[in-house]
Amino acid sequence: MKLTDKIHLLQIDFEITLGPEKKLPRFVNVILILADRITLVDTGVKGSHEKIFEYLKQNNREYHDIERVILSHSHPDHIGSAKIIKELTNCEILAHELEAEWIENIDLQNKERPVPGFYNLVDQSVNIDYKLQGGEKLKVSKDVTLEIIHSPGHSKGSLNILFKEDHILFTADSIPLKNDIPNYENYSALMNSLKIIKANELYNILLTSWTPPLYTKSETDNLIKDGEEYLNKINRLVKETYTGKESESFLFCRKTIEKLGLPSLLSNHITDRALRSHLLI
Ligand SMILES: [Zn+2]
Repeated sequence: MKLTDKIHLLQIDFEITLGPEKKLPRFVNVILILADRITLVDTGVKGSHEKIFEYLKQNNREYHDIERVILSHSHPDHIGSAKIIKELTNCEILAHELEAEWIENIDLQNKERPVPGFYNLVDQSVNIDYKLQGGEKLKVSKDVTLEIIHSPGHSKGSLNILFKEDHILFTADSIPLKNDIPNYENYSALMNSLKIIKANELYNILLTSWTPPLYTKSETDNLIKDGEEYLNKINRLVKETYTGKESESFLFCRKTIEKLGLPSLLSNHITDRALRSHLLI
C-alpha cells in the first residue's frame, strides 16, 4: 500500500501457535521507503522476505537496492526475516542497543521470552551493524529524514520513528490495543511513552505494527486513549488479583486474564511478566 510518494506499507499475516489445534491469527506491518536506495523498517516473520521482494517487484524495484533495515525492536514478528535479507542484499541492520542481545542471540530471547511457536516465527539471529540510542536523525535519502525516538515499555529498546518530511509516525508495538494480549515489559514506562506519542504534533498519519494506517487526529487520539484505559483497567485488576501466596504457577496471571475476558490459554510467561510490571510501582 502506497502511503506517500516514497513510503509504503506491507501487511504480513502470520499465526501464533498456542497449542496443537489452537492458532491465533495476527499480522505485522513492514514499512518500505522506496527512495533511490531502499530502507525497510521491520522485516515480518520468518519467510516474509519473499512477500517483501514480491512487493518490490510489483513496484518495479529490485531487492538488491535494499540498503538498510531498521528493526523497531527484537520480537520475532519484527526480526523474522532480517538475517536472510541481510545475506541476500548485504544491507546494514540498525536497532536500539538495548535490543541487541535478543536480536543477536535468538536462543537467549526464546529462553527469556518464550513466545509460543517461537522458531516458526524466527529461525536465525542477525548481527546489528549500528546500535541506536534514540535521538538520531537518519537521512536515508535526500528528502527522507527519520527521527529515531526511544519509546520503552513494550520492550526496553522499542523505537518509534518519525518520518519528518512525510509527517508519518510509526509506533510499532507501543500502543496497546484494547482487549488484546497484555504484552509489555514495563507498565509505567509504557504509559510515559504513550504520553510522548500523544504530545507529538509533527505527524498526520499514524502507523503501528498491528493496525491499518490512521489518517485523522480523532482516530489516533482514540487509539491512544483506548490503550491507556485498557492499561488502567489491567492495573486495577492486577492490584486486586496479585495478592497473597500463589499456589500454582501463573494462577494470578490466569485469574487476571479471565477477568479481562481473554482465553485462559493466554496465561504464560509473557502475560505474567506484563502483569507483574504493574507491581513495580
Ligand atoms: Zn513486540
